Amino acid sequence: MATELPAVILAIGGSDPSGGAGIQADARAIQACGGWPVTAVTAVTVQNSAAYLEAQLVAPALVAAQIRALAEDLPVAAVKTGMLAAASIAGAVADEIERLAPACPLVVDPVMAASAGGALLDAAGVSILKTRLLARAALCTPNWPEAERLAGVPVADLDDARRAAERLLGLGARAVLVTGGHGTGSEVVDLLLDGDGTVVFSSPRVPGDSPRGTGCTLAAAIACGLGAGRPLREAVALARDLVAESIRGALRLGRGAPLMPQMPPVRSRDAK
Ligand code: PLP
Repeated sequence: MATELPAVILAIGGSDPSGGAGIQADARAIQACGGWPVTAVTAVTVQNSAAYLEAQLVAPALVAAQIRALAEDLPVAAVKTGMLAAASIAGAVADEIERLAPACPLVVDPVMAASAGGALLDAAGVSILKTRLLARAALCTPNWPEAERLAGVPVADLDDARRAAERLLGLGARAVLVTGGHGTGSEVVDLLLDGDGTVVFSSPRVPGDSPRGTGCTLAAAIACGLGAGRPLREAVALARDLVAESIRGALRLGRGAPLMPQMPPVRSRDAK
């Protein structure tokens, strides 16, 4: 009997040498979801579990060449973008996606700053993200500060999150998931707005220090679900489970934030 091949998921983003976030976390999340991760590196950052030190950007033409080499060879089923670093790289990524994978679902994680302080996208890059990448996005996954910056409205509660999400739909994203993991309540509340309306996902906050890379992991796992043909709401629910499991399993390997070994979501493991 032929073995079913994994969905090939392209993660475009920065390298985090600690493995806590960035394309290393994306790749583990995609693998945990049963996909085959392929990556295009936009920047080499220097960071560990405790600090973000510096970064050197990859030339936009080389970022484009990585995407082209992958898309010309492999059946890329979904694309996820993370750290785009600069307008020149964001523009090259938008060009390649439009040319090579216009039909692929695109999940845009609009990361702009690392929790340890490093800038992950310059101001001109934010404007490319708004004008070119959101227009192609099946889903954009901002946290509250990112939603506030992209939508230009304050986000301090769920009503604000809905208002911001509506604005981002207005910029062309087909769906927006405003994540509430950065809040402090006993529940993590994420708000999904798509063409069918709003769904609120709520789950108990896992106690303890927040690990690195939760946003990367969530967006990569959703991209994997979409690439495997799951409906958006199901892909979001499974990805949230994966993040919760991974936070529970986070390890204090370094001096700083805990690092997550991305764990398959309980539901899909039970289903096997
Ligand atoms: N570093 C890189 C390369 C990333 O892509 C990201 C998020 O996408 C981060 C750091 C941010 O992760 P955190 O906020 O957990 O520091």
